[in-house]
Amino acid sequence: MPTDATFLLAALFIALGAIGLVYKVYTDRDLPPRISADYIRGLNLVLNRKTDEALELFVQMAKVDEDTLETHFALGHLFRRRGEIERAIRVHENLLARPNLNEAQRHQALFSLAEDYLGAGLFDRAEQLFGGLRDSTTLADAALEKLVTIYEREQEWQKAIDALRKLEMLRGAKSSQLAHYYCELAEIARAAGDRALAREHLRHTVRSESGALRGTLIRATLAREERDYAQAIPLYEQIIAADRHFISEVLPPLLECYREANRLPELDAYLERLVAADASLYRDLALASIVGNLSGSKALEAAVERFVFEHPVLAGLVNAAELRTLPAAERGTAMRRIAEALRGIALSNARYRCTNCGYSTQRFIWHCPSCKLWETVRPIQSVPLENVLARP
Ligand SMILES: [Zn+2]
Repeated sequence: MPTDATFLLAALFIALGAIGLVYKVYTDRDLPPRISADYIRGLNLVLNRKTDEALELFVQMAKVDEDTLETHFALGHLFRRRGEIERAIRVHENLLARPNLNEAQRHQALFSLAEDYLGAGLFDRAEQLFGGLRDSTTLADAALEKLVTIYEREQEWQKAIDALRKLEMLRGAKSSQLAHYYCELAEIARAAGDRALAREHLRHTVRSESGALRGTLIRATLAREERDYAQAIPLYEQIIAADRHFISEVLPPLLECYREANRLPELDAYLERLVAADASLYRDLALASIVGNLSGSKALEAAVERFVFEHPVLAGLVNAAELRTLPAAERGTAMRRIAEALRGIALSNARYRCTNCGYSTQRFIWHCPSCKLWETVRPIQSVPLENVLARP
């Protein structure tokens, strides 16, 4: 919804246009005084929210020059902000029909019209217009940025790469999301069974830290699928070393690799080394193990047990003191039952949340669909026990 501030802003622009014209009328006797009267009337119409009449007045205004151009843009912007896209389009198409615009003004009008199409969800038309401004001396940067957004939305990754590379050249700076576009292409190639092409795309993912991490994950997946565990295992471990947030994603396939390679004791040794280096990691391992329903690793079982025994609420709920005294086999059965209950709670709640906008999801994603940022979604590192109490 538009705010009063929007109206006031537009009114201010129009008032400035009118003042400029009045000034010109008094300093330039060749200018017909009728135009300034039109602007005053337009200002009144906008202030009184008689937008249809204001639109007609501006569209039919005979002369568009330096002084009145900004007012037209302000009016078009106002309409778009209010969701009145058809009116905005009319203002900008009307501007483009004027023969006396210079190149910068024409480009500005084309850009505004493209933004109208974008607002109306007409992506093809918007793409076409923004595409025409790729080499504009005044608006190439802004147009390329819009194109990248459109291609990202349409998941046209190769086109997004081309536009973003051009933008990077213009700005002389690398962006972090380019590596993700290559990762998207690599995932598509992998899903289609073209592993050579997937690896070719992955060569470009080392450009940024976040992209490199994701690239490593895809490389590890490719190796695991090829049963090349000697290659897959160190790649997965590299990811955990780089960012512990990925433990919940990486631990299940890592366990599978160790199991398939008949090297489970090595996994236990590796996990014990992790916890020895950073004691707080047992919680991450326990949560990943609970949620992923992982079994077969003594180190993971120990992490889950420690998590339950040391949890301030859980320990009381399950009577940890008594559990500790049970024989190993019985304790193991009890622990599996507790883990199963905890998994039920964890899976019925959001597991990941965007650190930027708070968007939450059950599945790990690299691109937040809400705020459109890359790699801001992180696992929620807790089991929301309080939600159990809130249920009927
Ligand atoms: Zn977000």
